[in-house]
Amino acid sequence: MNAPVQAMSAALPVAWSTRVDAFDPTSSGWRLRGEGVDASTFDGVVVAVPAEQAEALLAVHAREFAGRAASAPSQPCWTALLAFPAPAGAGVDVLRDAGAIGWACRNAGKPGRDPLETWVVQATPEWSTTHLEDASDVVAGALLRALADALGSHLPTPVLVQAHRWRYARAGNAGDGCLWDPRTRLGVCGDWLLGPRVECAWQSGDALAERILAGAGATSG
Ligand SMILES: Cc1cc2nc3c(=O)[nH]c(=O)nc-3n(C[C@H](O)[C@H](O)[C@H](O)COP(=O)(O)OP(=O)(O)OC[C@H]3O[C@@H](n4cnc5c(N)ncnc54)[C@H](O)[C@@H]3O)c2cc1C
Repeated sequence: MNAPVQAMSAALPVAWSTRVDAFDPTSSGWRLRGEGVDASTFDGVVVAVPAEQAEALLAVHAREFAGRAASAPSQPCWTALLAFPAPAGAGVDVLRDAGAIGWACRNAGKPGRDPLETWVVQATPEWSTTHLEDASDVVAGALLRALADALGSHLPTPVLVQAHRWRYARAGNAGDGCLWDPRTRLGVCGDWLLGPRVECAWQSGDALAERILAGAGATSG
C-alpha cells in the first residue's frame, strides 16, 4: 500500500522511521526535536499526521490549529487477516455490517489476485472501541468467529490468524481542507481535515501545497 509514496519520494531526501517529538521557532527558522531528527533549521513545517498526534505537536506553537485537530477525533479499527487452506466464503466475496464486522473482503475475489484463500476482516468502529485494549490474539479469534457467523458456514481450520489495531483509523472531518499560517510558515494537512478516505489526504496535501506556493495570507482554507 505504500508503493505510491515510495515512488513519489524516490528523488527526495526523506528520513524514514524518525519520530518528531516537537518543533520550536528559532531566529533562523524551525528546529525539530526527536531522536535522530535532522538538526538543521527549516523555513517551514508541515504537520501531516492523524488528528490526535497533530494536536499534541501543535499545542505549543499553534493552539488554534491544535483546537481544529481536537475537533476531529478518529475512530479505531481492529483488522484481522485470515488465511484458509480451502475456500471459505461459499461464493461470498464481501460482507458489510455483520455483527462485529464492519467490512470484510475475500482477497481472491478481486481481479488478478493470488488464489490463496485469505480474508481481511475490519471490525466496526464501535466494536473496535469496546475492544481497543484487548490482546491481538483474542481479537483475531473473535473476528474469526464473527466471520464464521456471518458466512453461516463451517470454516476450514485457518493456517494464519492475525489481528492489527489501527488506533487512529477512521478520521473525522474538521472541514478545513488544510491549515496554513504564512506568518509562522506552519501548515497542517491530512485526511482528518476533509474526511476518512485516502483521496481526502491527497486533496488536503495538494491544497496546502497550493497555499504554500501561492504565499496566501489567511490561516485556513
Ligand atoms: C485499516 C485501514 C483501512 C483503510 N482502508 C481504506 C480504503 O479502503 N480506502 C481509503 O480511501 N482509505 C482507507 N483508509 C484510510 C487511509 O489509509 C487514510 O485516509 C490515509 O492513509 C490518511 O493519510 P494521511 O497522510 O492523512 O495520514 P497517515 O496515512 O496516517 O500518515 C501519517 C504518517 O505520519 C507518521 N507520523 C505520525 N506521527 C509522527 C511523528 N510525531 N513524527 C514523524 N512521523 C509521524 C505516521 O507514522 C504515518 O506514516 C484505511 C485506513 C485504515 C487504518
